[in-house]
Amino acid sequence: MKRITILGSTGSIGRSALEVISKRRDRFKVVGLTAGSNIRLIEEQVKTFKPEIIAVADEADALRLRKKLGMEVLSGASGISEVASYNRSDFVLSAIVGFAGLLPTLSAVRAGKVIGLANKESLVVAGEIVMEDAAKYGAKIIPVDSEHSAIFQCIEGRGRDSIKRIVLTASGGPFFGRTKAELSKVTPEDTLKHPNWDMGRKITIDSATLMNKGLEVIEAHHLFGFSSDKIDVLVHPQSIVHSMIEFKDRSYLAQLSVPDMKGPIAYALSYPERLENHIAALDLSMIEKLTFRKPDTECFPCLLYAYEASKEGGTMPAVLNAANEVAVDAFLQKTIGFNDIPAIIKDTMNSHRTEAVREIDAVIRADRWAREKARESINGFSGRT
Ligand code: NAD
Ligand code: MG
Repeated sequence: MKRITILGSTGSIGRSALEVISKRRDRFKVVGLTAGSNIRLIEEQVKTFKPEIIAVADEADALRLRKKLGMEVLSGASGISEVASYNRSDFVLSAIVGFAGLLPTLSAVRAGKVIGLANKESLVVAGEIVMEDAAKYGAKIIPVDSEHSAIFQCIEGRGRDSIKRIVLTASGGPFFGRTKAELSKVTPEDTLKHPNWDMGRKITIDSATLMNKGLEVIEAHHLFGFSSDKIDVLVHPQSIVHSMIEFKDRSYLAQLSVPDMKGPIAYALSYPERLENHIAALDLSMIEKLTFRKPDTECFPCLLYAYEASKEGGTMPAVLNAANEVAVDAFLQKTIGFNDIPAIIKDTMNSHRTEAVREIDAVIRADRWAREKARESINGFSGRT
């Protein structure tokens, strides 16, 4: 029986993971859960899955939940990190969204856990520290992001020297093919309608701007140890080929399935085994065509900014990520327009003096600085659109 902790159990990934687990109660037991503010849902999850340790972001919510459930409820970043390192769990699914996932992920890493990593932002902002600490504390990181799960599955057991490059596929999001002028008019409601994937709000906006793919380039760099010039992106609107590797001999290996996050989640949970899963079968005879195109980085420059941040290294990826989180929030609140998201990120990056990252405090400082700077530029932008 694998004993599982889920950080961010009320989110899109967290709920899909519980669905996978509920079908295989013979193999998996939930021992830890954490949530941000969806207290009603975590209460329900606790009643169904009976974990041993839980935490929520806010102390007042924890108090109320304690009374309702009659069990200890930890709170705040420290409570969530305590759940992440709980000594009676074997596997931690890191599925909190954004920078808030960094410290809990590090806590699981430093406790030497097997980690199913969905929270890509922790690798983007502090990839060197997370990967070095994983080696130091004996933690194993198994990617859950569908592209990285695909690469992980393709790369297994193969010599790194045989690989020429990684190709990440991107759906292109809901606005693939639109012009900049058209993009200036899109609303958050339009942007939240993703054609292939059903995901949380932040990553759905990131998919539309191509920032999600940019973050994934940096994530792949840290996970697989290739520099970003060996990581390419192709737009593949059908989202069937989840990613591929090209070998030196010009041969490719790819991983295919229907677009359903329960696939990569189940693979991470059961790794190195493969279990029967409950996702739809892929019937290639029903799919008319699989197409691949170069991304349009003129209309969607966030991808380029991520490559730049990756090349620059140090604190710059943390600045890219923080400015993006602030800009996405402002877009969702209709303070800025769609095309202002990349503009704010670029503005923030241009004002940053990169520092080396030797400890996590440098990342936290850069994150705070970039949030403040991005908010300043939003005040300048918001009157304009
Ligand atoms: P979501 O918004 O649906 O859920 C986020 C979870 O994090 C929720 O449980 C929420 O309560 C919790 N949370 C948010 N802020 C918090 C805070 N400050 N403190 C503690 N908990 C907090 O997000 P999601 O779509 O499930 O994405 C989660 C992560 O997985 C992201 O990093 C995303 O990039 C990655 N990911 C998601 C998908 C997907 O299909 N949804 C695919 C690939 C990767
Ligand atoms: Mg992905």
